[in-house]
Amino acid sequence: MWHNNVNVKVVLLGDSGVGKSSVLLRFVDNYFKQDSSPTIGISSLKKTLHVNDTHIHFDIWDTAGQERYRSLTSMYCRDANAVILVYDITSRNSFNGLKAWYCGLKEIIKNSTIIAIAGNKEDLVEREEIPIDEAKEYANFIGAIYAKTSAKSNVGVEKIFMDIAKGLCPDI
Ligand code: GDP
Repeated sequence: MWHNNVNVKVVLLGDSGVGKSSVLLRFVDNYFKQDSSPTIGISSLKKTLHVNDTHIHFDIWDTAGQERYRSLTSMYCRDANAVILVYDITSRNSFNGLKAWYCGLKEIIKNSTIIAIAGNKEDLVEREEIPIDEAKEYANFIGAIYAKTSAKSNVGVEKIFMDIAKGLCPDI
């Protein structure tokens, strides 16, 4: 059958421990591991979503949050269609980290690159350190899509990738 193919390259950025690898694993394999081991350098996984007549092929790059990989990370962001900036809703530090990631990022990405912010670990909402309004306001300010996610309880993960795809191809 005839169908449209769309390739979408996505890079996950954010401090170590916010749940980048877990969000990726949840999206690609619908799986969650409580004690995941840290990503070393950069790794990537692929997943295809079928929406109506369109096959959306995601190529998703997971990066290590450590400082020493930042220059390597920027290489991957240059030609990304979308970047997901992840923070942990229970960590103010990780939200500050996200702002720092964005400052570096805006120097190198194309105008057309979609930015999304994922406030991860939504299942720990009782320990939330960043009021939702503050996070949304920052997302608005930088022109980003905002979503709360939980890799653990599978909240918002597929939606954030779908919102990115819709942002890139409004007719799907
Ligand atoms: P990364 O360094 O950003 O890739 O973070 P990881 O994916 O390795 O996750 C760091 C820790 O947070 C691991 O122990 C995960 O099990 C845990 N984690 C990741 N996502 C969630 C989530 O949505 N909820 C909770 N409660 N824990 C999470």
